[in-house]
Amino acid sequence: MDSKLKQELLSKDKQYVWHPFTQMKDYEHRDHLLIERAEGIFLIDADGRRYYDTVSSWWCNVHGHGHPRIKAAIQRQLDAFDHIMFSGLTHAPGIELAEKLVEITPEGLDKVFYSDNGSTAVEVALKMSFQYWQQIGKTSKTKFVYLDGSYHGDTLGAVSVGGVELYHALFKPLLFHAHRVPAADLRQARGAGVMDESEAAAARLESEREVAESALAAVRELFEREGDTIAGIVVEPMLMGAGGMIMTPAAYMQGLRELCTQHNVHLIADEVATGFGRTGKMFACEHAGVSPDIMCLSKGLTAGVMPLAVTLCTDEIYAAFYDDYHTQKTFFHGHSFTGNPVACAVAIESLRLFEEEQVLERAQASAVALAAALRDSGLTELPHVADVRQLGLVAAFDLYADAERREPFHPEQRIGAAIYQAGFEEGLILRPLGDTLYFWLPLCVTPEEVRDIVARTVRVLRRVLS
Ligand SMILES: *Cc1c(COP(=O)(O)O)cnc(C)c1O
Repeated sequence: MDSKLKQELLSKDKQYVWHPFTQMKDYEHRDHLLIERAEGIFLIDADGRRYYDTVSSWWCNVHGHGHPRIKAAIQRQLDAFDHIMFSGLTHAPGIELAEKLVEITPEGLDKVFYSDNGSTAVEVALKMSFQYWQQIGKTSKTKFVYLDGSYHGDTLGAVSVGGVELYHALFKPLLFHAHRVPAADLRQARGAGVMDESEAAAARLESEREVAESALAAVRELFEREGDTIAGIVVEPMLMGAGGMIMTPAAYMQGLRELCTQHNVHLIADEVATGFGRTGKMFACEHAGVSPDIMCLSKGLTAGVMPLAVTLCTDEIYAAFYDDYHTQKTFFHGHSFTGNPVACAVAIESLRLFEEEQVLERAQASAVALAAALRDSGLTELPHVADVRQLGLVAAFDLYADAERREPFHPEQRIGAAIYQAGFEEGLILRPLGDTLYFWLPLCVTPEEVRDIVARTVRVLRRVLS
């Protein structure tokens, strides 16, 4: 792009655009990266510079940018028809995708409700659960439970079950009341992280179970006391993303499943971020062998290319809404772009790629390379780095002024922001959450690229933290 056009666009960006999760004043004297092209794991800016998309374009991208089969699927669907409504009409992409999703998601999830983004998929889950209990006569079950540090989106229902103070505290007066319970944060386990020797693994497992048990005790206590008034508990299985890449034990999910069954509470799995292979399994629930009652999916659903979301539920929940019209049990919820056929066609093509190109198997090889790179790159020996952790193609660590004592940097130092800037010079898009730096790699990443990304990141850290 010629530099005059680039400057013109960037100046209009400042004049007209309000970017999400962004203090716009930060950009008065600094420009956003202006992206002109993208291919595979790379974003290419207006000056032709290439950057590794280490966060998969906000945790969405799966097969790399510009995948020819994804592009062809979009074209094919556009040639047939573009967006049509999904109420009173139906279409093959919406039907086929629903069938496929029921097939690949955990046992017991049998019905698919479409929407168009992750927050909305959570709103649907909450309303579905609430209405279910009303319609089966357990009208006192109206409350939801959420975890400390959880993130389920930015709409008000999702914020009501959100546990990140920075994003959520201000809006308290607008929210419905929900119960908050502590998370099972694996950083509290002895020998946590990816560096374990195999002989330490047993001790670590034991410690993980303790972490799970202590978090479960709070849920048990709450359910025993107030289970009659609780509709559901919303949880990000195995990996709590926006709250700081908090990894949680499989035993915690298993324990939650038991408690929910015991106390008649819906287990609502928010797999908006973890779905579609990111954690090493197609769905994070599979690490624990757990079937939720309701599951929310978005982000990777369309390989991260089109906005689309689904909320899956059990036949039992669906049945509570199924009656003669005059009984008024209809689920009155829907969005203009519900079941967008182009997005559905992309999602179907993405799932075909998973099958035909052994995407999960190849991602597993890259996850192994990631573990090795974290161990061998010198990252763990860097001062200020603590709690290196990994699950599949997601890895994270925290930066502290004093890592030994877990003493944080002063917020005004804005270490995360400095790393974000310095990343550009190494050809990396890094987007730390506060002082937590993470990789959220697309499944197309090769072991070679993984090693290169980690090596470049170590150089960035050396520069910023020295
Ligand atoms: C991103 C995210 C959401 C919200 O999805 P949007 O499409 O951004 O509305 C919900 N839950 C989790 C776990 C997420 O990571």
